[in-house]
Amino acid sequence: MTIKALSLDEKLYIYLLSVSFRETDLLQKLRVETRALPEFNMQITPEQGQFLGLLAKIIGAKKVLEVGVFTGYSSLSTLLALPPEGRLVACDINEVWTAMAERYWTLAGVRHQVELRIGPAIDSLNELIKAGESDTFDMAFIDADKSHYRDYYEAALRLVRVGGLIVIDNLLWSGKVADPKVNDPDTLAIRDINDRLHRDERIDYSLIPMADGIGVARVREKT
Ligand code: SAH
Ligand code: CA
Repeated sequence: MTIKALSLDEKLYIYLLSVSFRETDLLQKLRVETRALPEFNMQITPEQGQFLGLLAKIIGAKKVLEVGVFTGYSSLSTLLALPPEGRLVACDINEVWTAMAERYWTLAGVRHQVELRIGPAIDSLNELIKAGESDTFDMAFIDADKSHYRDYYEAALRLVRVGGLIVIDNLLWSGKVADPKVNDPDTLAIRDINDRLHRDERIDYSLIPMADGIGVARVREKT
C-alpha cells in the first residue's frame, strides 16, 4: 500500500488533464482574460473548478456561499452546476475584480442567481447569520484572506445545513505549512485551521492534495 499521494510531474499532470478535464468555452475565456492580470495565480486551478461543480451536483446544491470571488472562476464553475433556481451569495472586498466576475455571470445568463456582497467578508457573513440564514446553505467555498480562515470557517459552520459541505482552499500553502522555518502570519493561520479541521468533531473531513490543497468538510448533526 502506498502511504502518500503520487507526486505529479508535468507529464503526468498533462495526462491527468487529458483524461479528465472538462471546461466550458466561457470558463476558458475567463481564465485566459484573468491570466493577463498580475494576480492571476490567485485563481483556483480549472480542475478545482470542475471539482467544485461536481461536489455541488453530488449534493444537489441550491444555495451556495462563496468567500473570495476574485474574477469569478470558482463562482462561475459552481453556478454552472446549480439548477435554474439555485443561488450564490458571493463575498469579496474588491470591486474591480468582481466587476469582471459579474461580466461573466451575465454572459453565462446566471447574473440573476448571484447576490454579490462587497465588503469585509466577516461582516457579510455576520449579516447573513443575523438575517436568519443559518442552516440554509448547502455548500460554502472559502478562498479569501488566510488570516480570517478560522472566522470564515466558524461562520460557514453556522450557515451551512447538516449534510452540507464546507470547501476550503490553499490548505497545503505551497508546502510552507510543513516547513517549520516558515512562520509568517498566513502560514501560521493555515497551520491553525488545519489543526482545527483535523480535530473538529462537528465535521466529516478530508484534505485533498489537489492544486494547493483543498479541504472538504461535511457538516455533521448539530447539537
Ligand atoms: N476563488 C477565486 C480566487 C479568490 S482570490 C477564484 O477562483 O478565482 C482571494 C479573494 O479574496 C480576492 O478577490 C480578494 O479581493 C478577496 N479578499 C481578500 N480579503 C478579503 C476580505 N477581508 N473580505 C472579503 N474578500 C477578501
Ligand atoms: Ca485559492
